Amino acid sequence: MSQLTRCEGVVLRSRRFMESSKISTIFTKNLGRLDLLARGARKPGSRFGAALEPGTEAEFIVYSREDSSLWTLSAIDILKSNQNLRENLPVFRTLAAVLNTTYALSPPGQANLGLYNLLLAVLNSMYHNTFWESLYSFYLWRAAVLSGYAPSLDRGCLLCGSHEKTGFSIAHGGFLCSQHLQGEVDIFKLNDKELHFLKQLKHSSASDIDSEFPSILIKLIKKYASYHLHLKSSLLASKGFK
Ligand SMILES: [Zn+2]
Repeated sequence: MSQLTRCEGVVLRSRRFMESSKISTIFTKNLGRLDLLARGARKPGSRFGAALEPGTEAEFIVYSREDSSLWTLSAIDILKSNQNLRENLPVFRTLAAVLNTTYALSPPGQANLGLYNLLLAVLNSMYHNTFWESLYSFYLWRAAVLSGYAPSLDRGCLLCGSHEKTGFSIAHGGFLCSQHLQGEVDIFKLNDKELHFLKQLKHSSASDIDSEFPSILIKLIKKYASYHLHLKSSLLASKGFK
């Protein structure tokens, strides 16, 4: 047996495995995304109990064999069960969207501390926040930046340098002038207030969200995330949040 490793993480999903076990996918602070075999987790009285529910934050003790990419769970210590996020449908849908997006954005074994901290902050705000779609949009916008797709909001036309910011181009990730907008698809024309709001998001934390985002910005963010992060449209469907 190889060495035991201790890691802090969040359960993204769990599924049944064989008669009595589970395989859970967790996103850890230091080791990125891992698949974990929890032997006997479905037996009554299992020491893993309900600790592998999606959204649970825990410290895991795991080990791996050299010939397998699957880790084995040895012990688990719950830091925060987040049970209240699984008891109410709109909150649960937001939780599921955030966890599934984290899954899609985290290749196995690649740590992303920024994304991990963002995930914890969003989970922490989710229960008391009723602006779920905005909270999810906030998560997407920041996750895009953390994944290397920071939009350009301060510059003028990205193609000619003109000061004219006629429309935000999803594909270019910034503004274009009226001349360069011609023939472009997925263009968002923002007023000063909307642009200011979008710029403010860079400095906001999940706990600052206290109103619904303007609907044009929710659309823009989802388009942006779908284009640059290659997220499935089913993940971004707004009807899931109502
Ligand atoms: Zn231009």
